[in-house]
Amino acid sequence: MSRSPRPGVVVAVDGPSGSGKSSVSRATARALGVAFLDTGAMYRAVTLSAHRAGVDLADPAAVAAHVRGVPLAVGTDPDAPTIALVGADGSETDVTEAIRSSDVTGAVSAVASVPAVRADLLVRQRTLIEAACAAPAPGREPGVVAEGRDITTVVAPDADVRVLLTADEAVRLARRAHQDLGAADAAALAATRSAIVERDAVDSRTTSFRTAADGVVTLDSTHLDFDGTVEALLAVVRQETGQAS
Ligand code: C5P
Repeated sequence: MSRSPRPGVVVAVDGPSGSGKSSVSRATARALGVAFLDTGAMYRAVTLSAHRAGVDLADPAAVAAHVRGVPLAVGTDPDAPTIALVGADGSETDVTEAIRSSDVTGAVSAVASVPAVRADLLVRQRTLIEAACAAPAPGREPGVVAEGRDITTVVAPDADVRVLLTADEAVRLARRAHQDLGAADAAALAATRSAIVERDAVDSRTTSFRTAADGVVTLDSTHLDFDGTVEALLAVVRQETGQAS
C-alpha cells in the first residue's frame, strides 16, 4: 500500500481491549506533538445516543438511520480528548465520561457490527485524520495518532506507520481490572472478563485486530510497562518514517 502524499505523520494503532492502545496512543501523540483520535469513543458516542433515543439496538436499519443523524464534535487534543453529541440546534452535549459506562460498553459491539454505521463513521474518521494533517490546531504539528480496531486495515491503510499493539490476555485482563476496579484479584478479574474477552470475541466477527495485516508492525507489550510501550511505539514511528538514528 503506497503512502499518502498528505503533510504530517499518520500513525495507525489497532489492538484488542486492554492492550493499552488508547493511553499509549495518546501519550505517543503528545510526544509527537500531533492530534489523537480515539475511534472507539466515536462508536461509544453513537451507541449512547441511540440508547438515549430509545432506538432498538437489535434493529440494524433503525440504528443506522439514527446514527446518520447524529453529528459528533470530536476533540483531538491529546492532553484532553473530548467527544460531544451535537443537537439539531447546534448545541453540544459533552459525553466524554458518559460513554465509559458499563451500559455503553455492553451495547457498543452490536452498534459497531452494523455495516452502514461503520461506513458512516469511516468517512468521519478519515475527515478528522485529513483535518489533523491539513489544518492542525494552533501549536500542534500536522499529523495524528489514530487508534481503534480497523485503522491499520480499513480507515487508514495508507498511514505512514501501522502498528498492532498486543499483550497476552492475562496481562490485558489484569491491567484493565487495575484501571477500572483498582485491583486484580479473582473477583476483579472475573468482573473484567466480559468487558475484555467476550467483547473482543464479538468484535472480532466485525473487525480483524488479532493478527497484523501485511505491512503492519506487531508491538507486544506483555513484558513492557507503560513508559516502555510508549518508547517502543515511538521507536517504530522513527523506524518507519526513516528517522531512526
Ligand atoms: O476501544 P474501545 O473499547 O473504546 O472501543 C469500543 C468499541 O467500539 C469496540 O468494542 C468495538 O465494538 C468498536 N470499535 C470498532 N472499530 C474501531 C474502534 C472501536 O468497531 N475502529
